Amino acid sequence: MKAVFFDVGETLVDETRYWAEHAERLGVTPHVVWAALGATISRGEHHRRVFELLGGEPGDEVVYSPEDFYPDALPCLERLHGAGYFVGIAGNQSTQLEEWARGQELPVDVVASSASWGVEKPSAEFFARVVAESGAAPYEVAYVGDRLDNDVVPAREAGLVAVQIRRGPWAHLQVGPEAGGLRIRSLDELPEAFDGA
Ligand SMILES: [Mg+2]
Repeated sequence: MKAVFFDVGETLVDETRYWAEHAERLGVTPHVVWAALGATISRGEHHRRVFELLGGEPGDEVVYSPEDFYPDALPCLERLHGAGYFVGIAGNQSTQLEEWARGQELPVDVVASSASWGVEKPSAEFFARVVAESGAAPYEVAYVGDRLDNDVVPAREAGLVAVQIRRGPWAHLQVGPEAGGLRIRSLDELPEAFDGA
């Protein structure tokens, strides 16, 4: 493995507070938003559908906060970057969330998003862009994400090494054929888990 790219929501960032803030903005209690998210997951819909279901707008003013990083996120980025891996962050995110990530001065080589690239997961073009940015061959690039449909399956189809981190609502609720990727429960397992690829 030469390069490791990370999804953001529920991979590096715990979105609990983010969605609770959306709930407040939409005038509903947080558990209404959790229920709406669950409905979109079970129907295989885009998470933006939550806002349609609850009669509101996406609201790009809600961004993450540094406290939202999962405790294992920054140590993992530092460890991989320090070990010489090319490290990138690229998820299905707005330009606002990409700017937020850039502002965190993370130990990474690339910060990008679907919004700035103009291609979104699960499209093959998104993962081709990940590979192009890394300068490595597809099989030398790992993509770490929480979702089967947007991360694991399409990354593997694009020839990358898919790593699913099992946390957050999607990873717990999405069921499907075993995609053949690596599975981890914590980012503390990287990079050792690559030995099983
Ligand atoms: Mg995610």
